[in-house]
Amino acid sequence: MPGQARSGLAYAEPLIFELGASGRSAVSLPPLDVPEVEPEKIYGSLARRHPASLPELSEPEVVRHYVRLSQANMAIDTAFYPLGSCTMKYNPKVNEWAARLPGFASLHPFTPDELAQGALELMYRLERSLAAIVGMDRVTLQPSAGAQGELCGLLMIRAFHLSQGRSPKKVLIPTTAHGTNAASCAQSGFQAVPFDAGPDGIIDPAQLARLVDDDVAALMVTNPNTLGLFERELPQIAAILHDKGALVYGDGANLNALLGRVRPGDLGIDLLQINLHKTFTTPHGGGGPGAGPVAVKRFLAPFLPTPTVEYDGERFYLDHNRPQSIGRLRSFYGNFGVMVRAYTYIREMGAKGLREASGLAVLNANYLRARLRQSWNLPYDRTCMHEVVIDDKHIRHTGVSTMDVAKRLLDHGFHAPTVYFPLVVKNAMLIEPTETESKATLDAFVEAMESIAKEAQSNPELLKEAPHLTALRRPDEARAARKPILRYKANG
Ligand SMILES: *Cc1c(COP(=O)(O)O)cnc(C)c1O
Repeated sequence: MPGQARSGLAYAEPLIFELGASGRSAVSLPPLDVPEVEPEKIYGSLARRHPASLPELSEPEVVRHYVRLSQANMAIDTAFYPLGSCTMKYNPKVNEWAARLPGFASLHPFTPDELAQGALELMYRLERSLAAIVGMDRVTLQPSAGAQGELCGLLMIRAFHLSQGRSPKKVLIPTTAHGTNAASCAQSGFQAVPFDAGPDGIIDPAQLARLVDDDVAALMVTNPNTLGLFERELPQIAAILHDKGALVYGDGANLNALLGRVRPGDLGIDLLQINLHKTFTTPHGGGGPGAGPVAVKRFLAPFLPTPTVEYDGERFYLDHNRPQSIGRLRSFYGNFGVMVRAYTYIREMGAKGLREASGLAVLNANYLRARLRQSWNLPYDRTCMHEVVIDDKHIRHTGVSTMDVAKRLLDHGFHAPTVYFPLVVKNAMLIEPTETESKATLDAFVEAMESIAKEAQSNPELLKEAPHLTALRRPDEARAARKPILRYKANG
């Protein structure tokens, strides 16, 4: 019946019967009426004149191509991935199931509140859970990344000061901080004022007090800092800033050491962003999507971006009517799929599970520290939190670089740690094992690092040309990022 619309399933059923074993169907079937489409009639002048230049391949060939490509890369699903300050932790597969539930995945962003009650409830409950975990009162889920969360937080800090009739310009940032802190500062119109941490790697309150004047809007602090050290003096530091009317912003990208043990809100932090894609499990090896919710104390709640998710006792709704808000931060409500993953993770773990996870994350990092200090230099040799920094001091005379060590690790089947960061340690390697790795994996990693330390002495050339066993050796990473070749035929 030409012209009659049929669903995909209605097509598929007769097709399966007709292609049955005998090639003939036992039942009498309606004629298969796949309409003959004449492209030019449909598309007019837009119709393609020549066949598209696409590769003609069978399904297995395509599958093999992509599986091979996926295996050419080092990935968390195939190898230990101790990338410090990035928390490449295990992402439970049940998260993917939850995020793909049609009621969540197919929800249109313009769906009215009444028809999106489940999604709004999830957002509301996630907000409450995050607030409880970090010791804050309200949370916006909108920011799409940690850096956008920082921007959101700084805009709220500005709005707060303006509401007090003040407009201080400076934001203090320790040199151990992630580079995004200074960038977010510049983007929000503040002036970043860097300062060095004390000799033990953490902020010295007396030194900080000398920098705090009436023109300071806030301090941005990462705790544990990027050396993996706990900022012990934070309550005293917060008091110094609060005395001058300044706020304390927490960079909470990595909460793996704190979950269920320390609440940043109790340490005097007024607002902080949380990277759901790091601490709360969303795969982010390819760079996103992520989510950087910002948690705030009650006095900052009026400035949260619009809309907020509210509950009136009967129904959940989006509140757009917030006169003191900094406004909308991005389209719609943020990366909802990431929220589903984070909520699934929190519910699956429970309060007890999250507390256990942070304990194991810290234990694993300290196990690596204790074992690695026999063959590598530790610039800060004391109990660390969820990550540990080593450097190249013992091998510097061999001419082998930190980058060479990172490349050689690939030959041993491990992803490299974060290298050349934090900047305050020369030729640093920042190692974060996370809570899910076994002792056997950690031991294998230590053995690889020990053997690399020996190779640096005995055969430095081997390291300078590493990796030897990967699909690609040393690609020009800057060029690959700036001029990516995204077509299947470079000149096609
Ligand atoms: C990852 C990270 C950020 C930035 O988060 P993005 O989601 O990559 O924008 C900021 N601060 C710290 C300490 C981080 O580890």
